Amino acid sequence: MSGKPPRKIHVTTLGCSKNVYDSEILMGQLEYFGAELVDEPEAAEAIIINTCGFITPAKQESVDAILEAEALKQGGNNKQIIVCGCLSARYARELQKELPAVDAFFGTEAFTDILRYLKFPVDQAPEFLYHARTLTTPSHYAYLKIGEGCNHTCAFCAIPLMRGRYRSRPISEIVDEASRLAAQGVKELIIISQDTTFYGLDLYKKQRLVDLLRELETVEGIRWIRLHYLYPTTVQDELLDVMAGSTKIVPYLDMPVQHITDRMLKIMKRGGNSRRIREIFRIARERIPNVTLRTTFIVGHPGETEEDFEALKEFVQEMAFDRLGVFTYSHEEKTAAYALPDMPEEIKEARYEELMSIQREIAFRLNEQWVGREVEVIIDEVDNEHGVAYGRTPGDSPEIDNEVILENVPTNVEPGQFYRVQIIDAQEYDVFGKIIEAL
Ligand code: SF4
Repeated sequence: MSGKPPRKIHVTTLGCSKNVYDSEILMGQLEYFGAELVDEPEAAEAIIINTCGFITPAKQESVDAILEAEALKQGGNNKQIIVCGCLSARYARELQKELPAVDAFFGTEAFTDILRYLKFPVDQAPEFLYHARTLTTPSHYAYLKIGEGCNHTCAFCAIPLMRGRYRSRPISEIVDEASRLAAQGVKELIIISQDTTFYGLDLYKKQRLVDLLRELETVEGIRWIRLHYLYPTTVQDELLDVMAGSTKIVPYLDMPVQHITDRMLKIMKRGGNSRRIREIFRIARERIPNVTLRTTFIVGHPGETEEDFEALKEFVQEMAFDRLGVFTYSHEEKTAAYALPDMPEEIKEARYEELMSIQREIAFRLNEQWVGREVEVIIDEVDNEHGVAYGRTPGDSPEIDNEVILENVPTNVEPGQFYRVQIIDAQEYDVFGKIIEAL
């Protein structure tokens, strides 16, 4: 490795929005020191791969990305390969043995260590370096990570092994970052952490999400604030009331529950109970106008009986969630569930298919109910060649939820703009709309 920092660097990001956020911080710091971020790994002197180590398919995807980078290193060039993130945090020793072409392995949030390793003069850097950030999302929305790590011990989950205990960021630091994002044109803040309702319990010894939201609502230029990853045992009714009364916090309740029978919630070590879960969703629908309910379930978890699965299906039919994610259980070593017998993949797949087919019908029925109604839409992307634009309602988060497809749009329609749109047609997941007016 030469004594000088690489000039051209390519960053590959895998996994969740927390990883996207971390990569953006790292990229901001690299650019601060004058590195050029290149889209093509072939053109880079150093390739940094920010990996995911959550479940088997994600781990495989990360290993594949590393192998692709290794292939670019053949032929004796001095390309450097740096691996960081969750997979590396979890399996550094194993990976070092299996992937000798990788120059260095780092854990999560190891920004300064990576820059130091690449010979950037980090030690002379001013404190605000931490706040340098290069957005990789469209410039009108940005993820805002308010804390990292998790204090829960869900039986199936390896995240605490990779990300450690929950660490809230100070309110002032988060609000400061939100103001800088607004100043650079961000209109939608997407609040993320492993457990957003836990915010403050470590740092301030009490829940302070509502206080944080009240401050974020004062940030000029921000029009939408979206919450992700609420945890059932720490959701307070006060939060639902704040969401109901806010003009900026979108009516979008994302609360992964993973299962619904008390028996399974116990086996999964989720804490709480099905009565409170139902109550939160009921209160949300009663108090928050036009609220979109989003949740996720794991099927095929060790211990899940046919009866548990029947109860889960009934719950999905009864609740008719607006947005639903379903995952098959992944047998992850060092998690509590790893000690329990794993279920055959066919059973997991069959339960996944069955639950998704129930949800497809519900999703289509709910979308049909929007036909003829008007809704606020943010434009994410415009295809001028075909006169088509793609946007989202307040009930849709980027990448994971539905899209509003707008045809024959005027040429002055641009990403980041808000429009009143009439929904004219519906599909299972996406809907079609017609622009009424700019907002
Ligand atoms: S809340 Fe549970 S599932 Fe979520 S990150 Fe923490 S341990 Fe994992």
